Amino acid sequence: MCTDLSYNVATMQAAQPRASLHTIGCRLNQAETALLADRLRRDGYHLVEFGQPTDLLVLNTCSVTEHAETDCRHLVRRTLRHSPHAFVAVTGCYAQTGAEALRHVPGLDLIVGAQYKMSLPDYLPAPRALRKQPAPQVMHTRKIDREDFVLAGAGDYQSTRANLKVQDGCDFMCSFCIIPFARGHERSRRPEDVLREAEELASRGHRELVLTGVNVGRYASGGLSLLDLIHRLERIAGVERIRISSIEPTTIPDALLDHMADSQKLCRYLHVPLQSGDDEILRVMRRRYSVRDYAAFIEKAAHRIPNLGLGTDLMVGFPGEGERQFANTLSLAAELPFGYFHVFSFSSRPGTAAARMGNAPRPAAVKARSRTLAQLSRAKRLAFYQGQIGRTVKVLFESRDSDGLWTGLTGNFVRVGLATSSDLANTVHDVVVTGAMDGLAVGQLAAC
Ligand code: SF4
Repeated sequence: MCTDLSYNVATMQAAQPRASLHTIGCRLNQAETALLADRLRRDGYHLVEFGQPTDLLVLNTCSVTEHAETDCRHLVRRTLRHSPHAFVAVTGCYAQTGAEALRHVPGLDLIVGAQYKMSLPDYLPAPRALRKQPAPQVMHTRKIDREDFVLAGAGDYQSTRANLKVQDGCDFMCSFCIIPFARGHERSRRPEDVLREAEELASRGHRELVLTGVNVGRYASGGLSLLDLIHRLERIAGVERIRISSIEPTTIPDALLDHMADSQKLCRYLHVPLQSGDDEILRVMRRRYSVRDYAAFIEKAAHRIPNLGLGTDLMVGFPGEGERQFANTLSLAAELPFGYFHVFSFSSRPGTAAARMGNAPRPAAVKARSRTLAQLSRAKRLAFYQGQIGRTVKVLFESRDSDGLWTGLTGNFVRVGLATSSDLANTVHDVVVTGAMDGLAVGQLAAC
């Protein structure tokens, strides 16, 4: 009986056209790919892992670095090697900013800019009529809608945590950043639609929702701020944790910090991009704070929210960054209570103000600075993890790691592992932390 059933499922799947999706870039792109995956599944596609033979490839691209085109060409070539007849659709930030260059990439059948991204499936031929095209169809407009938006379906995730897109676009126009060109002006997702997807994700068993957007702190729709939206999300049964992804320091009101300190559901976690610890560089970057403002904010947040998990982004190699400016970044990064940082090298993006600036530091210096900061980040993470020893923390377990330990995250973004023969997938447990190493705190289940 069982054998017949699996045979029937396998036969049905074999008859279904296959779709494979792949994301390059940020968490927001991942959220959008997951929504596209959900739609394609509902349209009758059988989703296969990227890298497996497929009839349709959807590539969701990034344009934050200059490697975007190279990545895109490489991934298309790789797919066409094992699936020469696959229909290839490219969307995302690079499809918006580099549509003309993409037209010349061999093997593409459809290019979809930001305006039409979430309705990409509407521009595909019927699933059983997918054929390679002599030239790609291009769906692209220079202008991107400014209206608040709704999205269909709910993201398709294999993981414990699910992203929840709440916002898009940015009006800040930092001088190095191409995102305002790639994604347009800031706009927010209608609250009733955010809540609808959150309920659906919770009913599928996702206990943690990660609120994503380009500039999430600017959320404003239907009279609700980000904090109002969080209050509504916290009322949804099954949602046990809400995490804010990266958020600009100037968009976080005191009331949000207070709520983070008190809430049982909002994670005590902030990832607040700093970029540089030098006032002159921050000014030329057109960031909206000085070193003093930023440091005061971080100290206030750390004071109000005990055991807060704090992360940041740092950029090295911005035009005009000399040894003195870098030393300022290094000492500020060392001084503030960060648990980790992501380090990026400046990448000159055509059309941005920074692309017209000279005085770029030598590549060897940029590499060395990047290594120094990465090393400091590892040391800060270890110190933060060591600070958890002796505490009882709540861990949402995900999967076993390569050493056989069950691992998961705390609300304040500490990865915790423990040895047990039980299946802990997607369960929350109190764990007493007993030790810490690079990238993992270890512990044991607390006695009930
Ligand atoms: S805040 Fe600045 S860096 Fe962030 S998306 Fe907007 S323009 Fe880019």
